[in-house]
Amino acid sequence: MQSINIGIIGGGYAGMAAAVELAAQGIPVTVFESARQLGGRARGVLHNDTQLDNGQHLLLGCYHETLRLIELVGGRIEQDFLRLPLQLDLHGEFSLRAPRLPSPLHLLIALLKAQGLTWAERKKAAGFMLTLRRMNFRLAGDMTVTDLLAAHKQDADLTFKLWEPLCIAALNTPIHKASAQVLLNVLRDALNRTRADSDMLLPRIDFTALFPQRAAEFIERNGGKVYLSCSVDAIVPKDEGIELVAANETHFFSHVICAAPATVAAKLLRPMAALAGAVAQIEALDHQPIYTVYLQYPARVTLPHPMLGLHRRFSQWLFDKGQIAGQPGLLAAVISAEGIHQELSQEQLAQKVIAELSEEFGITEQPEWFKVIAEKRATFCCAPNLQRPAQQTALPRILLAGDYTAGDYPATLEGAVVSGVRCANLLVGQR
Ligand SMILES: Cc1cc2nc3c(=O)[nH]c(=O)nc-3n(C[C@H](O)[C@H](O)[C@H](O)COP(=O)(O)OP(=O)(O)OC[C@H]3O[C@@H](n4cnc5c(N)ncnc54)[C@H](O)[C@@H]3O)c2cc1C
Repeated sequence: MQSINIGIIGGGYAGMAAAVELAAQGIPVTVFESARQLGGRARGVLHNDTQLDNGQHLLLGCYHETLRLIELVGGRIEQDFLRLPLQLDLHGEFSLRAPRLPSPLHLLIALLKAQGLTWAERKKAAGFMLTLRRMNFRLAGDMTVTDLLAAHKQDADLTFKLWEPLCIAALNTPIHKASAQVLLNVLRDALNRTRADSDMLLPRIDFTALFPQRAAEFIERNGGKVYLSCSVDAIVPKDEGIELVAANETHFFSHVICAAPATVAAKLLRPMAALAGAVAQIEALDHQPIYTVYLQYPARVTLPHPMLGLHRRFSQWLFDKGQIAGQPGLLAAVISAEGIHQELSQEQLAQKVIAELSEEFGITEQPEWFKVIAEKRATFCCAPNLQRPAQQTALPRILLAGDYTAGDYPATLEGAVVSGVRCANLLVGQR
């Protein structure tokens, strides 16, 4: 352990979090990123001279580790994000807004005053939250969200308007397939602690600039290296360390953190018999898509709120980038998880979104352009009782980071970052 130096495969949020934590402690790190830019599944995309992301993302106030690391590498949370108090608006159908009161009062009042529900439904929703609190958000056994809602008598209307949109937004998994325990973990952290934890943070800058790019500069300032367009092709354990084969060159490290996406990690780990257990867990994961339709309208086109949902439409959530990021006329429609939208061509999907914007908001202009970004394996399918691989593998010198590794959270930026920080802590602990 005297000459510790760490190789990190993947420059997404997990890999960069691990690298920043280690570099901050003076430990030499080298990051290998196969793409030409950092960020992975949360990266900036330039289209028609307009800065987009590979998908519209949202952070919650309870993403403490992500927010801490953004600040550590030089970000300023109040400048980098538009911060909104918890609100769920399904245009014309349902509206819930948390008043600026201490937790959990803000949530109870929001539920009891929610528009679009009957008084009986509001009481049921508030009662359900109080029951979850009493249970400490812990189930004796995991089950699907559908089963949990049925057990607590949350009726169909309440489910359609509140719990289903919340579950799909948080877990990117349909409620009949989604883990109730993981949803409760998110509700516990977002809704049950401080009011600021339930705030919604919409980035004003793209996701490569927000953290990974600043992280790379921080790592280099602290003596580390970040290689772009440098794919790792093999991990080779040796007696005294680990060799990484990247771009036909061999690099030697005391330890390696594999922070590549699940499918790539499985491929890299497969040749090592000792890691068969982790590979089997990774291969058992299913995935879910996220589609984002960006539409550039004339600058005068706006939505009533920076973010709002639609009820029983293709577009689940709409974002007005003019209000969020100073990009007038740019709208983003997000469609999470599997569904019939996957049967449409990109052109057909964009036309559906355009028609919905016209019917819901009277936007009759045609967009100057649209861009559909389909991330077919956006996240793992967050099913009940999922066995996710631990950060520490059976080989002490090889660790795993990534949103799919063991943790409380679904596939999120916070899940990815926490996994990276855990790897760093494990290595520092070993030292
Ligand atoms: C469209 C979309 C919307 C989302 N919305 C949200 C949201 O609103 N809120 C939220 O919290 N989360 C959201 N997520 C999830 C979040 O983006 C991911 O959980 C997170 O980015 C995963 O980070 P990661 O580092 O684990 O993996 P990745 O981002 O996949 O990073 C892995 C990196 O490894 C690199 N790599 C692959 N192979 C190799 C190789 N052989 N050698 C070297 N490098 C390699 C990849 O290029 C990539 O950069 C969304 C995801 C998508 C796709």
